[in-house]
Amino acid sequence: MTSKPCATEVRRPSGTSLFISDLHLTPDAPQLSARFEHFLAGPARAADALYILGDLFDFWAGDDDLNDPFNARNVGALAHLSAQGVAVYFLPGNRDFLAGADFATAAGLSLLPDPCVREICGMPTLLTHGDRLCTDDHDYQEFRAEVRTPTWRTAFLAQPLDARKTAIATLRNTSESEKKRKAMAIMDVNPDAVATALRQHGAQAMIHGHTHRQGQRTHDVDGNTCLRWVLGDWDSNRSSALACTPTGWQFLKLGDT
Ligand code: MN
Repeated sequence: MTSKPCATEVRRPSGTSLFISDLHLTPDAPQLSARFEHFLAGPARAADALYILGDLFDFWAGDDDLNDPFNARNVGALAHLSAQGVAVYFLPGNRDFLAGADFATAAGLSLLPDPCVREICGMPTLLTHGDRLCTDDHDYQEFRAEVRTPTWRTAFLAQPLDARKTAIATLRNTSESEKKRKAMAIMDVNPDAVATALRQHGAQAMIHGHTHRQGQRTHDVDGNTCLRWVLGDWDSNRSSALACTPTGWQFLKLGDT
């Protein structure tokens, strides 16, 4: 009788990819962080791939802030997931677009450009945070165009970390008060911008976050019906994740309270 080999875990592909965005993790919301850790240890652990489509963090002041205990804990949790064999991808949002190569290395994940196309559920699928599609919000698009230039990024990151955090806090207060003033409609994606993006990239489906309007929509693009999945945001009482499984798409039920 031969002795059994030591129990080593054999990871079998589940054929499932998960998509999340807009967690807005902050030290001010410990229950939200607990939800995230629970998600990483549960559903994400059982998946083949986890795609984070931006605004994982409420703000990211630069990769030189990786030693901050809150950041280190979240980055460590992602690195742990990655070490267990789950492919982790991160596409930056409007709040964490300063997350860069050092963040990616520390978290054991791959950075994706916004937008990009991946084969998801057998379909070429456009992945984007979604803010670039809100083209009716002209002020925001102008701001976005400015802060996404290499010149702006380099100049901003050259400031001391504390100064950057102060600048971000000021910016956030302005943005919150502007949101109240703007009509809801201009803060949603523009259907023409959606159709143009799908057409340009030859995609049949799209997954994005940012607007927090969880659901599935369809768009007619040159006679083809394309799917658009909108990810929901998270808070202390709510989680949202989209799954692409061998049997199709579904929003996960994550035991909301
Ligand atoms: Mn956003």
